[in-house]
Amino acid sequence: MFEINYVRAKSLSDATASIRAHPEAKLLAGGMTLIPTLKQRLAQPSHLVDVGGLPELSGIELKAGQLAIGSATKHYEVAASAVVRKTIPALAYLASEIGDPQVRNRGTLGGSVANNDPAADYPAAVLGLGATVVTTQREIAADDFFQGMFTTALEDGEIIVRVLFDVPKRAAYEKFAHPASGYAMTGVFIAETKAGMRVAVTGAGPGVFRWSDAEKALAQQLNPAALDELTVDASNLNEDLHATREYRANLVKVMAKRAVAKLLAGK
Ligand SMILES: Cc1cc2nc3c(=O)[nH]c(=O)nc-3n(C[C@H](O)[C@H](O)[C@H](O)COP(=O)(O)OP(=O)(O)OC[C@H]3O[C@@H](n4cnc5c(N)ncnc54)[C@H](O)[C@@H]3O)c2cc1C
Repeated sequence: MFEINYVRAKSLSDATASIRAHPEAKLLAGGMTLIPTLKQRLAQPSHLVDVGGLPELSGIELKAGQLAIGSATKHYEVAASAVVRKTIPALAYLASEIGDPQVRNRGTLGGSVANNDPAADYPAAVLGLGATVVTTQREIAADDFFQGMFTTALEDGEIIVRVLFDVPKRAAYEKFAHPASGYAMTGVFIAETKAGMRVAVTGAGPGVFRWSDAEKALAQQLNPAALDELTVDASNLNEDLHATREYRANLVKVMAKRAVAKLLAGK
């Protein structure tokens, strides 16, 4: 038996003070990862600081070509948002494909990004769109935020407030979902941004990564056939009972080609 003190934060500053006051505390958003982790005794925090209902972490706003999504925004809210569907439909689609209705009604953008599960969907969009993670301390570019399996640039006591997405010209996401959980065996997010083509891969490797060869090829020719001659190095990819690393390497290419076709079709 171990005891946990539950604290419902009244404001963002209250949450920051609580998390700083208790070095063994953990933030709680929707609990979709944290609660199972506690049940399995993989974490034993002294306090749970609940930020799930904080108004400062909620809301979806479009300002000057940039979409700001609060970290406590639930997946179903992103999937159903008229403004997300209009400006970045690939992001709304990605959110609609996460887990099941229960998970989409509890799980949050901030929790998913902070957790950085190697098979999670949101990291692919955040990296693929070159988004910015805004925390209580600073702004972190997606390229610097994700640092490998379950590891991010977040420091102790740092809370994700919102994620800023520059609206791309076009974007698309395709994943080969694990049939039981919905997590990505391999998912590829492709975006045509002002800064050029970006291709982010989740599920295949130990963490989300950019496929730079594909970015270069698509910059030359924005067509699925541009990826025909590319090969994906399987040596650093994940291997488990669901798929070998060679199978995942093939999935990266297949999902990327499908995403390009979808992007061109404007779906
Ligand atoms: C059955 C099942 C199926 C799923 N399928 C998928 C899937 O198909 N695709 C997918 O991408 N995900 C999937 N998920 C994960 C889900 O999308 C959740 O978003 C994810 O588990 C995070 O949960 P949460 O938002 O409730 O955060 P919590 O579980 O509450 O927190 C997760 C971690 O993030 C930290 N945290 C939370 N909020 C913040 C914040 N604002 N700032 C800093 N740190 C914070 C917490 O301290 C904790 O360490 C699945 C989960 C389950 C249980």
